[in-house]
Amino acid sequence: MRKCLECGAEMEGRSDKKFCSDMCRNTYNNKLYRKARNVISYVNRRLASNRRILDSLYSDGRTTVSKSLLEEERFDFGYYTSSSKNRLGRTTYRCYEFTYSSDKHNNITIEKD
Ligand SMILES: [Zn+2]
Repeated sequence: MRKCLECGAEMEGRSDKKFCSDMCRNTYNNKLYRKARNVISYVNRRLASNRRILDSLYSDGRTTVSKSLLEEERFDFGYYTSSSKNRLGRTTYRCYEFTYSSDKHNNITIEKD
């Protein structure tokens, strides 16, 4: 016996049937979409916050700040738009138009496109 994915009711009929009713299908799909929207919105907020912090610390040319300053501003190092490694093996991170990398002394150099 198959069970409805939303309410768990037992169902008869076609073996590929997943829901007992349109209402259950809609409820189930709405929950899935809401979850996806929440994930996207959370990541977007983290990235926007990081970008705002980089923008506030950056001044013309190259700007070097301590990692702890970024942490005080609640910069989240887990979120960036892309990353790459240069010839020396140092990882450079991008957050929209900003590029930043860390040296061995925990200084962060910020550049802007
Ligand atoms: Zn159901």
